[in-house]
Amino acid sequence: MAGRVLLTNARVLTCSGGPDETPIDADVLIEGDRVVRVAPGIGTDSARVVDLRGATVLPGLGDAHVHLSWPLDFVFDHAAVAAAPPGPHMLDVAAVTRTFLESGYTTVIGAGTTQPLDDLLVKDAIDRGLVPGPRVVPSGPMIAEVDGLGGDGEMMEVAANAKELRELVARQCDLGVKALKLFISGDGVVPEFPSDDVYMNDEMLLAAVEEADRHGAFLTVHARGSASVAMAARTGVRIVHHACFLDDEALKALEARRDDIWVCPGLHYLYAMVNGHAGPYGMTPERIEAAGYPEELRSQIEGLHRLRESRIRILSGGDFGHQWTRHGTYAAELQRYVELAGMTPAEAIHTATRNMGPAVGLDLGQVREGFLADLLIVDGDPSTDVGVLLDPGLRRAVMKDGRFAYLNPGLYP
Ligand SMILES: [Zn+2]
Repeated sequence: MAGRVLLTNARVLTCSGGPDETPIDADVLIEGDRVVRVAPGIGTDSARVVDLRGATVLPGLGDAHVHLSWPLDFVFDHAAVAAAPPGPHMLDVAAVTRTFLESGYTTVIGAGTTQPLDDLLVKDAIDRGLVPGPRVVPSGPMIAEVDGLGGDGEMMEVAANAKELRELVARQCDLGVKALKLFISGDGVVPEFPSDDVYMNDEMLLAAVEEADRHGAFLTVHARGSASVAMAARTGVRIVHHACFLDDEALKALEARRDDIWVCPGLHYLYAMVNGHAGPYGMTPERIEAAGYPEELRSQIEGLHRLRESRIRILSGGDFGHQWTRHGTYAAELQRYVELAGMTPAEAIHTATRNMGPAVGLDLGQVREGFLADLLIVDGDPSTDVGVLLDPGLRRAVMKDGRFAYLNPGLYP
């Protein structure tokens, strides 16, 4: 039968288990774009058989805070990217989507574009098979409040009230945007707009959520301070980025929405900044200190422990693409969850797999009957050493929609 693939001699990390799950010995039968069976010793009639010789199969990974707009050589010059000629720029964007796929990432959620249509154009090219890349849940330009961070309108779209915000959301949704990105807090790295600041209000967010919902889209927010996190949670935002500070009120508001809200930390970004990785690019220790980032990192780590205790789902997402958090090193985010937030490797991997499916409304993120066959095949066991996912030499192949989308040229033929 056409379109049947049987992966044999596999160690399968299903990502359907608990935080201590380990790979099981099993074959994986794929029909069309779906996994149809996961079991030892599946018969081999009429399927293309691929012997994995003990390699580990896990779901393709996902990242929920992605800027496809930032080229591989991006050095924080947003204005230059915005002003780049669109033709060459789109080739840069395609190089980024290819890098995600080759890094084992089969799902990405946009967190704001620099040229307005970046996510939409490249998603279309990927879906038509023109360029390699993951499933893209596309974002559009970021949206700011007129008095807030980004409110000068140079890099973001701007709304002053609920009516304007609703119109902006409707306009992006009409173009095909599915993940809207709103700035509702400041960011210590821009001292005039500290992380504790709150922009927009409940009325605006409720209007935006309602409008997005009408279009089958959802809201994601940049929210670093407690008050902004609480506002996001009580108004129906789906993904809260950063959440660096969490007081009791914010935590309670998140708990009340446990089933349909996700927190996406970007922990590695803060870690890298605080540990001097951005020093060569002008982020001096003085600037990092002035941003309040060391305190933010401490607070975020404490908050991640509280979120885990409260069973709030965390989505892996890392804001990658700076030279100090380079494209292709996306799984460093998972490493930080293990090292700093006390997760087991499997639990960290779940933030990029199992938690991703319901967040994007698709059957993905588990190696399981009926689920999409988006799979990553690696040598080694990422459930004992999550660093396995960072090593390109250990990455054998990536499948998307039941087809081999990447084969490591260092290993094959
Ligand atoms: Zn970002």
